[in-house]
Amino acid sequence: MYKVAKIIFKPINKGGKDILDSIDNILSMLYKNGQIIDEWIVEQHDQNYVANVVTTDDDSLSPEYYNQYILKEIDCFDIEIKIVCDDAMATDSCHCPEHSYYIFAIDPYLSSSPVICGDCGKEIPLIRIPYLYNEEEHYSILNFQKTYQAVDRLWMDSLSDRFTKRQIVDHNSQLNKRGLDIRAELENKVGKPVYYLLCNPIGGWFEFEKNNKKLEACPKCGGELVKVNNPYADNVCHTCRLAFVTCKE
Ligand SMILES: [Zn+2]
Ligand SMILES: [Zn+2]
Repeated sequence: MYKVAKIIFKPINKGGKDILDSIDNILSMLYKNGQIIDEWIVEQHDQNYVANVVTTDDDSLSPEYYNQYILKEIDCFDIEIKIVCDDAMATDSCHCPEHSYYIFAIDPYLSSSPVICGDCGKEIPLIRIPYLYNEEEHYSILNFQKTYQAVDRLWMDSLSDRFTKRQIVDHNSQLNKRGLDIRAELENKVGKPVYYLLCNPIGGWFEFEKNNKKLEACPKCGGELVKVNNPYADNVCHTCRLAFVTCKE
């Protein structure tokens, strides 16, 4: 379950470093490492600072998850973590011991993990996902999430824009090629099938008929779509590792 937490920073005088810069760096690093969600407020109390954050699971702020960047920056502080309460607006995250498959699904409105458990349909906190490529954080996944959301926002706000629509619906667009590359790398690292959610049809109320056309076959290979029971997708193509929501409401 996502938790609201306080991270209390008590500076140890090591000289030379700007305390606020350091706190800002650490919070950004914790976000890129999948330990907190991308928004926080920092209170000042005399010499100490308290960051109010949302953390992605009961134990996500544990130092065992710190990467080398955090470890290097954090040694100018005594850190205390206080879990305040559940995040009432968040859904629970996946706690399955294993996952038979995964869906890499960017939700246009969520900044938490886009890696979904195929079995329970809940998101898997990024601290439980291996780092991709040669990274020591989840930069590729989180950066792609932001780029995808920016394109989606542009589509929503300029409804006749063909460029952004193509980026979202076409498996061959630059945006989706990047997403599929991350999918392949993720599959490589977790050793189980990972499906990329292709938002085709794009859905929505604009040009309803055209944008909600029922998908009869995989748009990439023309092959059969296989039903899955997951809140993020209802069909997949095993060959292309694509997932679809084919019955938009
Ligand atoms: Zn699960
Ligand atoms: Zn296919």
